[in-house]
Amino acid sequence: MSTDSAPTTELSADEALQRLVEGNGRFMRGEGRSPFLGRRALTDLVEGQQPFATVIGCSDSRVPPEIIFDADFGDLFIVRVAGNIMSPEIMGTLQYAGTYLHTPLFVVLGHEHCGAVHAALETRFHGKEKRERVQSLLQMILPGLAGVEPDLVPEEAMRRAVEANVRWSMHQILETPEAQVRVAEGNYRLVGAVYELASGRVRFLES
Ligand SMILES: [Zn+2]
Repeated sequence: MSTDSAPTTELSADEALQRLVEGNGRFMRGEGRSPFLGRRALTDLVEGQQPFATVIGCSDSRVPPEIIFDADFGDLFIVRVAGNIMSPEIMGTLQYAGTYLHTPLFVVLGHEHCGAVHAALETRFHGKEKRERVQSLLQMILPGLAGVEPDLVPEEAMRRAVEANVRWSMHQILETPEAQVRVAEGNYRLVGAVYELASGRVRFLES
């Protein structure tokens, strides 16, 4: 674990975001550089980490952040959980990232065809429930889907629900006192994004 005084990235939030955009561009063009080919000596990271972004993404096997952002060891601090939900443990991990790693950029990364979001919509529209612990996870998604209307065609409902779920997680992060302090200080950015499965593009949401 790092301490408060540990060195942190020198990138600003905007520079960190630009790095992610550029990395996703390399990935889409098939120019991603494998992190396993010695781009950065692993021994450089033994003494500590200075990741430039924290990513909260889904566990889905099709959305690995290091690969879709063409990032290296030590670049990204990542939380992955089905449906990129917020829970006390995840909030604690984010608090660690903000307090000790001082990553200037936080990204909530949803994705198309998210099974967790789809299942939450099934609960909302049709009352369908999954097994207990899965359902308790879906319950954490449902408040964010309140504005998704039931009369939409399924594809549009899913598109809106994925985006709404990203914004719901962002909302919960921004509600925390430390996020509000860091936003006020101006050295912090929280952005939402949706990964498009077919193209490989990460679409950053308008704030
Ligand atoms: Zn998912």
